[in-house]
Amino acid sequence: MIVVKVGGRKGIDYDAVCADIAALYHKGQQLVLVHGGSYQTNVVAQQLGHPPQFVTSVSGYVSRRTDRRTLEIFEMVYCGKMNKAIVESLQKQGANAVGLSGIDGRLLEGNRKSAIKVVIDGRKRVLRDDYTGTVKQVNTGLLELLLGAGYLPVVSPLAISYESEAMNVDGDRAAAALAASMKAEQLIILSNVPGLLRAFPDESTLIEHIPAGQVERYMGFAEGRMKKKVMGAAEAVQQGVGRVVFGDARLPQPVSAALSGQGTVIE
Ligand code: ADP
Repeated sequence: MIVVKVGGRKGIDYDAVCADIAALYHKGQQLVLVHGGSYQTNVVAQQLGHPPQFVTSVSGYVSRRTDRRTLEIFEMVYCGKMNKAIVESLQKQGANAVGLSGIDGRLLEGNRKSAIKVVIDGRKRVLRDDYTGTVKQVNTGLLELLLGAGYLPVVSPLAISYESEAMNVDGDRAAAALAASMKAEQLIILSNVPGLLRAFPDESTLIEHIPAGQVERYMGFAEGRMKKKVMGAAEAVQQGVGRVVFGDARLPQPVSAALSGQGTVIE
């Protein structure tokens, strides 16, 4: 059983990712795909006249400001456009994919942050109408049902709060929680970089291996959104996932390449 997270940046060839995943599926590999959609969300949000805003938490993490309107746009893009395009592509390759989000069947459940402390223009502020949260629990029953019946689940990283509100969660950390709960052997995190770079954006400075117990020590190399990937990787290995790989989504067979050890391997 493996979990693959594919990012949502510009330049990712989803058809290539899906062709590789379909080939693994046909070989009998049990697999769950979690996808991103940040780039498309920004495009659609602009088009709808509700441009994206990003906030920096007091501890320095950047996240998307998710008011109710943004949450709706997020659902349109992730659960609609992105998820269905991926399911269509996998179906074209003969893989029986089923799209769902973390809201469905309460797959990804957690706490909504009722108040988030952020820094805007150097000043601390508290936001109370934000629909973001953290996955605390993965209700694996629905996935087990689908996998057992031979389907390939494709998951949009929205989650449901304990009060049953939809919320935006970090896709990498959601994939990490999912991999741990599903007792996955590996978590493959694909993005538009070769892996964790020692001196971003210099792609020749790839960190090839990180010992499982030392992931946090590498946090300092990650900037911006990459921090969440490193955090997710740390959480996954702590919770029993045997191996996490940050792989390059731009390669022709990106999942197979990552499985063969290309990228940053954490184990
Ligand atoms: P995705 O949407 O594909 O999940 P993110 O934008 O969340 O991707 O995170 C990947 C991005 O992190 C890269 O495109 C890169 O711009 C940035 N990044 C920051 N620091 C690093 C680093 N040390 N190594 C690699 N990428 C980094």
